[in-house]
Amino acid sequence: MSRRNIVAGNWKMNLDRAKARELATAVAARSAEAGSVELVLCPPAVYLETVGNAIGGSEVALGGQNMHDKASGAFTGEIAPSMLADLGSRFVILGHSERRTLFGETDTTVNAKTKAALASGLTPIVCVGETLEEREGNRTQAVVTTQINGSLAGLSPTDVEKLVIAYEPVWAIGTGKVATPQQAQEVHALIRGLLGSLASPAVAAKVRIQYGGSVKPDNAADLAVQPDIDGALVGGASLKADDFLGIAKAFA
Ligand code: PEP
Repeated sequence: MSRRNIVAGNWKMNLDRAKARELATAVAARSAEAGSVELVLCPPAVYLETVGNAIGGSEVALGGQNMHDKASGAFTGEIAPSMLADLGSRFVILGHSERRTLFGETDTTVNAKTKAALASGLTPIVCVGETLEEREGNRTQAVVTTQINGSLAGLSPTDVEKLVIAYEPVWAIGTGKVATPQQAQEVHALIRGLLGSLASPAVAAKVRIQYGGSVKPDNAADLAVQPDIDGALVGGASLKADDFLGIAKAFA
């Protein structure tokens, strides 16, 4: 089963409008360097339109970093799925560890958002991953299993097929500590097995599973050769066109 690798940049709460435009323009202009890899840029929501205009007409896709699960209403400060779509987003990151730890998101929240994103035609990038304490306590498999089953509860096989999953060990995010390719592959294989149980092995074989956590151009190639690693969700290194495209090239 061949899956199209996907490399997404999570810009988090960084850059200003001019720098966002400049970075997006550079990535779009050089997107051919990524070959067949699907590229996604996830800027702060207020810059979605700017970035959307900068990448317009290129193969680069736009994504949100978060959204609310309701369609509209009295939710001050929140963004509806249809609003992301309205600005040209095709993807949305859901359940990032920063959302889970700093903003109290649970698997139940992520589940509601995943369903809402799919209903609005967005492709969710559903993030899971264990903390250092959980890994050291040999609980990685149990934690990731609970997160996948909880975040994807009630989804039909057709919906599961549309997802992108990001395995992001919390201890590797923004720390410079990358999981070894073997550690990552082991969890990716576990996730694919879980998707097989939730949907079917045929569906699971089609779902892209990204690795995230201190991916850089110089460690991406070893991750890219693993059979169940289908791309990367990139934080820090996505803020430089050279680094982001260098990672994408490793997955081409
Ligand atoms: C992330 O925030 O999704 C991430 C993987 O960050 P970094 O690449 O900086 O570790």
